[in-house]
Amino acid sequence: MLDRPSPQQSGVRTTCPYCGVGCGVVALADGLGGASISGDSDHPANFGRLCSKGSALGETLGHGTRLLYPQIRDVRVGWDEAIAHTASELARVREKYGPEAIAFYLSGQLLTEDYYVANKLAKGFIGTPHVDTNSRLCMASSVAGHKRAFGADVVPGNYEDLDTADLVVLVGSNTAWCHPILYQRIQKARQTRGTKVINIDPRRTATSEGCDLQLSLTSGSDTCLWNGLLAYLADNGLIDAGYISDHTEGFDEALAIARDRAGSAAKVALHTGLALDEVVAFFDLWGSSPRVVTCYSQGVNQSIQGTDKVNAIINCHLATGRIGKPGCGPFSLTGQPNAMGGREVGGLANMLAAHMGFSAPERDLVQRFWKAPNLVTSEGLKAVDMFDAIDQGKIKALWIMGTNPAVSMPRADAVRAALSKLEFLAVSEVVNCNDTLPAATVRMPAHGWGEKNGTVTNSERRISRQRPFVAAAGEARADWWIMSRIAEHLGWGNAFAYRSAGEIFSEHASLSGFENNGARVFNIADLAGLTAAGYDALQPIQWPVLENKNGTGRLFSDGNFATPSGRARFVAVARTLEQVTTSDAWPMLLNTGRIRDQWHTMTRTGLVARLSSQIFEPFAEINPVDASRLGIAPNALVCVETVYGNAVVKASITPSIASGTLFVPIHWSGTNSSAGRAGSLVHSVVDPVSGQPDLKATPARVTAVDAAYYGYLLTTHDQPPEALQSIDCVYWVRAVVPNGYLYTFAIDGRGDVARGIANRCLSGPPHISFADNETGVYRCAEIADGRVGSIAFLGRQPNAIPGAWLQSMLLRDNLEPHERRAILAGGLPDTAADNSPVVCVCNQVSAAEIAKVIAAGCSSSEAVGRACHAGTNCGSCLPEISRLLTGAGVASSLTKKQHQHTQ
Ligand code: SF4
Repeated sequence: MLDRPSPQQSGVRTTCPYCGVGCGVVALADGLGGASISGDSDHPANFGRLCSKGSALGETLGHGTRLLYPQIRDVRVGWDEAIAHTASELARVREKYGPEAIAFYLSGQLLTEDYYVANKLAKGFIGTPHVDTNSRLCMASSVAGHKRAFGADVVPGNYEDLDTADLVVLVGSNTAWCHPILYQRIQKARQTRGTKVINIDPRRTATSEGCDLQLSLTSGSDTCLWNGLLAYLADNGLIDAGYISDHTEGFDEALAIARDRAGSAAKVALHTGLALDEVVAFFDLWGSSPRVVTCYSQGVNQSIQGTDKVNAIINCHLATGRIGKPGCGPFSLTGQPNAMGGREVGGLANMLAAHMGFSAPERDLVQRFWKAPNLVTSEGLKAVDMFDAIDQGKIKALWIMGTNPAVSMPRADAVRAALSKLEFLAVSEVVNCNDTLPAATVRMPAHGWGEKNGTVTNSERRISRQRPFVAAAGEARADWWIMSRIAEHLGWGNAFAYRSAGEIFSEHASLSGFENNGARVFNIADLAGLTAAGYDALQPIQWPVLENKNGTGRLFSDGNFATPSGRARFVAVARTLEQVTTSDAWPMLLNTGRIRDQWHTMTRTGLVARLSSQIFEPFAEINPVDASRLGIAPNALVCVETVYGNAVVKASITPSIASGTLFVPIHWSGTNSSAGRAGSLVHSVVDPVSGQPDLKATPARVTAVDAAYYGYLLTTHDQPPEALQSIDCVYWVRAVVPNGYLYTFAIDGRGDVARGIANRCLSGPPHISFADNETGVYRCAEIADGRVGSIAFLGRQPNAIPGAWLQSMLLRDNLEPHERRAILAGGLPDTAADNSPVVCVCNQVSAAEIAKVIAAGCSSSEAVGRACHAGTNCGSCLPEISRLLTGAGVASSLTKKQHQHTQ
């Protein structure tokens, strides 16, 4: 029997599907397919708080963009046909080319139960080891670093450590935007108990606003800094010799290498580009703070020496015994909601299941437990190698679940081309349009958030339930159900005879304890055999879950680790500087990352108008020195190029980024921009240990892009991407606004041609228009059935983005004469009108409104909140408010261009 939502009179407790913080959510279904969303005050990850993305989850529900029924090629079919066709194609490829011609590419969005079934089907029954996941792009280096140091993929501490630390160090992590609830927790500790915060990042970001020391080191010099710290701790009597001797191994070699590579603060300063006093301040504070938590994220992991960076950090914690104790420890902040759950079941190509590898005893154990007829013998291809093997014709059939590699993979253009070479591509997906779906042979509609039923594991090893609270869209099914039916067709029905997610969880829990005897840290055997009611009621709990069923908040407190010797391992980190790979042709280094209000490729957050109100367009951050040298003006269109592709985005000129480097966000795709895909730019160089791609340092160049006309279309009619591509714009971007859509575009052509294009954007002839041949300005509007359907604007200057008033005219009926005139004027003739950027997206409070209350005497973020409500809901904008309070302006570089909004 399938797990189904029951009628809800009160809220359903579930978990946010975005980042690895894993916030608890209470969803109160409205009975019409929607729900009101609030934070779960009982959930220990967030205690009721949600960030801007989590707060807007209710606005992402609905069926408008959902894949509603199975399709073969573009033809709707029933589930029976889709399943039979997929099974027969997998069988055909397996028979003709062997099992290793089949691959699975999974996602940190999948629930643990879905992940478990995928891994079992592929590695135990089909017999292919080629199962990898987009988590490879996210935290594979942390996994490898944990295993090298601890003998197992374990995050030792928990979020409470952030409350009790004396010092929190953030490394390669824009925590304020990417893990906002944890950032607020750190800031609370900073305010209430004086916790010091150090931010280590080549870029100044919103996270920098809440730190006591910002270390903008040279990109790629992290291991030099941490090696230098290890040497400093040893040379100044700050190590814990007893802990090192009793609980670790390899210290002397690691220290010798550290001394050789980075033996003095002066040498560290030289190699990291930091000032000597900054290095000394960091060493002093780290060495003198009894309780230190070092949080790290993609800036550490997504690097050609990501694993070494992780171990260089862990080395310092081991040397001081600052691990396994309250307020202490290295802490990998996971990007995705279930990256850790995927690791638990072996979703990575180099893991088998339940944290086991491919040794003969481990394989034997898994084979017997699964009664697997075709258990794989060794690890499979990691993500980059997997898509290369597809390109080379070695992999013939691929099943993608819940991810969009044509946008997110490095060399995304090559990945998109490789997909077209497959003999068979199955895609299990929630949405009906993304960059990957056009290549699919079979499209299978999967449950989305609110329909899914299962578990996820957050960054602190906490397993939480995702529970359904709305009916499935169309014919969507759970991923595990789809896979189990296909397994049945392939003749393995007995092994996949699951009737519910709870049964799968129970099997997964049993495997974790199967012949474990304490050998494997990941052990949730005491959750095996939960009744359906027990599974449904499962409270958030941290693994391992042993006899008392209370979970385990902290590991390694006794100094015993999961290595054969029981000792943690120091890793000598010899490579202290990444090789500089720039050249005359590619003189800059491209960094990529996230922005505050969007998630991954925007298939969900892109549906929410207010989440686009702070940053609407893709951009490249460029240092003013570089911009001046290259003749790039603020808000100009620029082309960022690498060997692998190019993107056309807006220039955001900011001293927050170092000269010689660029930053482009990862979120835009081919469905909402002409050429905004950062993945198409990124090289596929990987960390040799973890196989994680370096997404932070691709050699690149940037040039200005000319356009004769710039415009926007504000309309109630969505335009398919193909229609915009056919217009041959130099640039276009699409976003959702209240009541409709906003397209900005640039055209390189004659004025009459551009004007014709503007008219074509309307669904009918313009009813009112204004043209000034001298300035090139052209404005028109379509008023259908008495309501404003579309407004188009064209001019020779960029960035005429419509402000709130003009946006509010969409669907407006009974226009007053002065409103008609104002539409053609581009806005109300009120020069005092607020043209400034939105800072607080929850309450739609602009920078000008905040500046006004600051000028009136508000001197703290609390006072600003009381005066204008900014920052009083999710709190994600508090760093920006803090920046305004210090007179530094709004942190987001993109918001600067919105100062040029028309009203
Ligand atoms: Fe979701 Fe935001 Fe919490 Fe992350 S911090 S889990 S995105 S609400």
